[in-house]
Amino acid sequence: MHESVTKFIDDNLDNSIEDLKILCRIPSVAAKNEGLEETSSLVEKMLKDVGLETKVHETSGAPVVTGWIDVGAKRTLLFYNHYDVQPAEPFDLWDSHPFEPEIRNGRLYGRGVADNKGDTIYRIWVLKAFKETGTDLPVNIKFVVEGEEEIGSVNLPEYTEKNTDFITADAGIWEFGGAGIDGIQEAWLGLKGIFFVELEVERLVRDVHSSTACVFPAAASRLVWALNSIKDGNSRILIDGFYDGIKPFTDAEIEAMKKIDLHEDLQKKEYGIDEFLNGMTGDELKKAYYGDPTANICGLTSGYQGKGSMTVLPAKASCKIDFRLVEGMHPDDIHKKLRKHFDDNGFTDVKITYFEGYPAAKTPVDHPFVKIVERANQSVFGEMKIHMTSPGSGPLYLFNKYVPMVSIGCGDHLSKAHSPNESIVVENYRKAMHRIVAVIDEMSRW
Ligand SMILES: [Zn+2]
Repeated sequence: MHESVTKFIDDNLDNSIEDLKILCRIPSVAAKNEGLEETSSLVEKMLKDVGLETKVHETSGAPVVTGWIDVGAKRTLLFYNHYDVQPAEPFDLWDSHPFEPEIRNGRLYGRGVADNKGDTIYRIWVLKAFKETGTDLPVNIKFVVEGEEEIGSVNLPEYTEKNTDFITADAGIWEFGGAGIDGIQEAWLGLKGIFFVELEVERLVRDVHSSTACVFPAAASRLVWALNSIKDGNSRILIDGFYDGIKPFTDAEIEAMKKIDLHEDLQKKEYGIDEFLNGMTGDELKKAYYGDPTANICGLTSGYQGKGSMTVLPAKASCKIDFRLVEGMHPDDIHKKLRKHFDDNGFTDVKITYFEGYPAAKTPVDHPFVKIVERANQSVFGEMKIHMTSPGSGPLYLFNKYVPMVSIGCGDHLSKAHSPNESIVVENYRKAMHRIVAVIDEMSRW
């Protein structure tokens, strides 16, 4: 492999961490529309500094930053990353300031270090290492760095639909990944889709004395009954036609699944549960993990929740639900089916507000690039687990028609993405850079 390149990476580890800290000091919180322009400019500058041509694409929301270098190689590798982060609240649960990254015991703490600024910076630094050591890049490189991943990539289609030539490549590395609960590196070949809605019921113009519940309608009860109609006691979703069109697993996926150990006992311990949903274990659990859609209540609000008692009949009740979708499902279709489900069951008073939605996508488990990533990982980290899909979501569907993507990264199971004390292991960050060098190397022989 390119020893001068990996040596440069190791010799300059502190400098690349410093760049990561600089990026993390800007609170680029997409949900609050904060710091996005500033961060996009900084990312563009960093891409330019390592020798890429760049462009900032304005959208109706945050800009999409692209960078590329065409060295005339046979193969082209594309990176997808995002420069926005989740809000850092509640701040008081952080042991250090979320936007003042610091290293403690070999871990770098700060909002965005794992999701997704660490992965963004080390990939840029790999190119810096090629440039600074005067090593010829054996593949062409493209970057797409967006700024609204954490709010459902709402405006990314404006970019991807107009730039299908740019996003066409031989292979791509998606934003995230890392070591699992057993310390073994994981690659994710797909992402589930999502359909996120708010449900609201308003039955009175204002809250009233709860004694009148004998004659007035109760919004909270209406909402609870409506929610109760969505799933049965085994979490089977009861919306008519919900499971229609779901693509079955391929033979190759079933083979890949056999090699996976979900470490049921470790997970039970880690999350404080006696058993998984419906007592699932083994193959059944794996099939649910990779192949089941969900209907999950993310939050539920109504009436008085303060100290002691307060007898009130709340006028309104609301909740937020995310449906994770698998291949063959579409959020617009589920939206229609959910509306029909409520109407057919007498819940015409439940208002649905659509927040975000997109379908699932996967790279085939037998794609040659999967082997390339596996070999590259072997030379740096060792063993790797190949997951046909993550149970999480991302806008992979916008890309995978044009470029097969595999998601690997510098996180680990303690990274706490989206939570207080988000962190990465600095050593994983260093090795993740070596792994990208190895991917580039392997890809040049493809
Ligand atoms: Zn995220």
